Amino acid sequence: MGKLEQLISPSYVGELLENIRAMVVLMESDGTLISWNGAFESYKIIYPSANKMGDFFPTTDKHQFLMNLNSKVRQRWNAGLTQQGEEQPRYCTCTLIPMQDERILFIAEKVETDSDFQEIIERLGRRVKLFQIESDFTKKIARNKQVEMESVMVQAKEVAQIDPLTFLLNRRMIVRELQDEVLRAERYNTLLTISVLDIDHFKSVNDTYGHLVGDEVLRQVAYNLRDHTRQPDLAGRYGGEEFLILLPSSDLTAATKQASRLCKQISETTSHIQGHSITVTVSIGIAQLRSGMETWDTLLNRADNAMYEAKRSGRNRWFVSE
Ligand code: GH3
Ligand code: MG
Ligand code: MG
Repeated sequence: MGKLEQLISPSYVGELLENIRAMVVLMESDGTLISWNGAFESYKIIYPSANKMGDFFPTTDKHQFLMNLNSKVRQRWNAGLTQQGEEQPRYCTCTLIPMQDERILFIAEKVETDSDFQEIIERLGRRVKLFQIESDFTKKIARNKQVEMESVMVQAKEVAQIDPLTFLLNRRMIVRELQDEVLRAERYNTLLTISVLDIDHFKSVNDTYGHLVGDEVLRQVAYNLRDHTRQPDLAGRYGGEEFLILLPSSDLTAATKQASRLCKQISETTSHIQGHSITVTVSIGIAQLRSGMETWDTLLNRADNAMYEAKRSGRNRWFVSE
C-alpha cells in the first residue's frame, strides 16, 4: 500500500480541498493572498478588499502572524480569526508551511472551544424544552379530548335512556327496569306492584289547544309523577300519554294510596299555558305481581286492563286488577 498523497491523482486535489473544513490559503511570502478553498471563502467574503492574510486576524493576533510569516520556517500556533456575523474571533490552529517557490501555504482549523460546546448544549437544551412543551401540550389535548369524550358518552347514554320531553325514563328503560324488578321479586320473594297511568281525553287537549300546548301538559303531569314517586319507586314514559310506575317491595295498599294522591294532585293542578288554563285528569290501573305465576308482560297487561276499567267506570280514578 502506497502513501495517500502518491495514490491520489493530482486531478482530485481540488476536490479534496473543497471538501474539508480546514481553511487552506496560498500566499506570497509577504502574506498577499493568491488562492484559497471554500472553507476560507466565508472569511474572505466579509472583507472583499482585504488582500493580505494579516487582515483576517484581530489586532491582538496579527502581530504573532506576521512574526511567524517572517520566520520563513514552518510554524504552528493558535490564534483567533474573525468571521462573518460573529463578534468573537473564531479560535483556530494555524499552520504556515513555506514552499520551495517562496510562496507560503496557510492552513487554519477551527478549535472546538468550551463556548462551542456550551452553545451546542444550550441548543440541545432548548430543543428538549421545546419537545417537553410540545408533549405537555399534546398530553393536555389528549386529556381534554378524553374528558370531552367521557361527557359525550354520558350524554349519549342519557339520551338513550331518558325521554327528551318529560325527562323520565323512556319506554325501553322502564320496561327493562320492570323485567329486572320481576326477576328480583321472584328471586328474593319480595313484593312488586305496578301502576299504569293514562291521561284522560288527552286527544281533545291537542285538538283544542294544539300539539305544543299538549306537550306542556304532558310535562306538567310528568312533574307531578316525579313528585309522587320516591325511592325505590321508578317512573317512566311508557307511551304517548301513558306512564308506568314501578313500586318495588310494595303491596296494593301502598300503590292505591299513591294512585289516590296522584289523581287528586293532577286534577287539582291547573296549567297556565299560552294564555290558557288547562286541567287534566288521569286514570290509573294497578296490579301486584303474582309470585311464581306470571311474567313481566302479563303483569303489565293486567295493569293496562285495570287502567281501561278505570276509564270505563268514569275516569279520574284508579282500579286494581284482581
Ligand atoms: P282516553 O281518556 O280514552 O285516554 O282518551 P285520550 O284522548 O287520551 O286517548 P287517545 O289514545 O285517543 O289519545 C291520546 C292522544 O295523545 C293522541 C295523541 O295525539 C296524543 N299524544 C301522544 N303522544 C303525544 C305527545 O308526545 N305530545 C302530544 N301533544 N300529544 C301526544
Ligand atoms: Mg288517554
Ligand atoms: Mg293512551
